[in-house]
Amino acid sequence: MKIFRILTVALISSGLLLAPSLPLQAQSSIPNLGDDSAMSLGEERLLGDQIGREIYRDPQYLSDPVLDAYVNSIWQPLYAQAKRSGALPAEMDAQFAWRSFLVRDKSVNAFALPGGYFGVHLGLLAMSETPDALASVLAHEITHVTQRHISRGMSKQNAQTPWLVASILIGLLALRTNPQAASAALTTGQAAAVQGQLNFSRDFEREADRLGFTLMAPAGYNPEGFVDMFNMLGKSSRLSDSGNFPYLRSHPLTTERVADMRSRVGEFDRANQLRNFVPKDANTLLLHRLMAARAGVLADLSVDALKAYVQQGDLVEAQNPNRTAMLYAAALASWQAKDAPRARAFYERLKASTSIRTPVAALDVVRWLGIELQVASIAPPLDLASSSRIEMLYAAQQILNAPSASAATLKTLTSRLQDWTGSNPKDIDAWSFLVQSQLMQNQRVRSSMSMAEGLRAQLDDSAALAQYLTAQGLIRQGLLADSVDAAIVDSKVRELQSLVRDANRKPGR
Ligand SMILES: [Zn+2]
Repeated sequence: MKIFRILTVALISSGLLLAPSLPLQAQSSIPNLGDDSAMSLGEERLLGDQIGREIYRDPQYLSDPVLDAYVNSIWQPLYAQAKRSGALPAEMDAQFAWRSFLVRDKSVNAFALPGGYFGVHLGLLAMSETPDALASVLAHEITHVTQRHISRGMSKQNAQTPWLVASILIGLLALRTNPQAASAALTTGQAAAVQGQLNFSRDFEREADRLGFTLMAPAGYNPEGFVDMFNMLGKSSRLSDSGNFPYLRSHPLTTERVADMRSRVGEFDRANQLRNFVPKDANTLLLHRLMAARAGVLADLSVDALKAYVQQGDLVEAQNPNRTAMLYAAALASWQAKDAPRARAFYERLKASTSIRTPVAALDVVRWLGIELQVASIAPPLDLASSSRIEMLYAAQQILNAPSASAATLKTLTSRLQDWTGSNPKDIDAWSFLVQSQLMQNQRVRSSMSMAEGLRAQLDDSAALAQYLTAQGLIRQGLLADSVDAAIVDSKVRELQSLVRDANRKPGR
């Protein structure tokens, strides 16, 4: 959400781990990577938090409740299985973040960062033909984290270290909007490393494939997803500019890798286990196609890209099995291209393409699009009290989009969002809506406080402190000053001042 992007993007890229030009405070609290001992879980998390903070500031970071929920729905069973199988021990579970985020980038990529953060490019979602194929990539990445490949690679005093560091860089460089800055970072950084065979060693890759494979079936995914994904990557990368496939740079499709997974699927099949996996039913596939369509549109908002989706929607024939997803994409693309009437016309065709047989999950996705497109006829209003995060956020959006919301409605909205953020303090979107809702009621102190908490959810304590100081200033000027709020603000200022001071002071750990 744009509202929190108040600081300029200062991407780590070469800075965080390699370059000496980093501001002191950030540098001093980074674990000492040259240390021979393995990085502790806490140290790795700290490093992850620092990288995460930069990511949340990056304009390419995308918060999209619908896609977030979908990726999460694929990810959760794998995460649960990693815990069940013992691959993910309780201590690591407790210490790491386990947060994934979307990157608005049409290239095909996914990456794991230190401390349990995962990035997924929209291009990967758009290209994945099945949930199983998408799951295979996530299963691979989660294994890099559970096997501590990141810290193991960094702390092994061997030639691998710079490669590994560079692999993190590459993931982050993909986040950059400014290609010139990216190439400058490459030259000042480790150009040779970047051009070479970087990233995790082959052993780590093999381990991530093999252990990732074992997570699939118990989590409900067809392990063939691994092979399907390899096939899709191979096919698509041959058809397109290889620059669109950073995932292949970090995960080359070596014959060994492909053969290994094929033979594992074969073994699995011989044990007759594949029979337990009926092909994903039409319902699951429709939802997946809608999500892939959404990711495809949002991945590239250039005029030409949007136009292509609109044209496909114009031309799609009634018999096309992918018609619903194509109309969805055309409606969203028209809306992004600021052609509201056309977006709504596509939306009507989209609605007409559904039937009583359309699964509920897909109907929900269509309904949410109606809210997004501000289709006036959407009735009844969504349920703000819904326990579903998406429903609640869209209900909030519906209220905030309305030309005039009554004071009573805004009050209800604010109180709902306050409750929600109370139990979900990391929900950046909810904080953002709360800020808007409070601003619309001219609650300036409260909105600064909510903004501060939203920034903390983005791991940015310094910016949060600045917001609390703003709130403190407003109170001192005599604005509002509910005595409880004033006390909270004072104590938050003290707490954050000490946190920020500690982070600055910590010697190389
Ligand atoms: Zn890998």
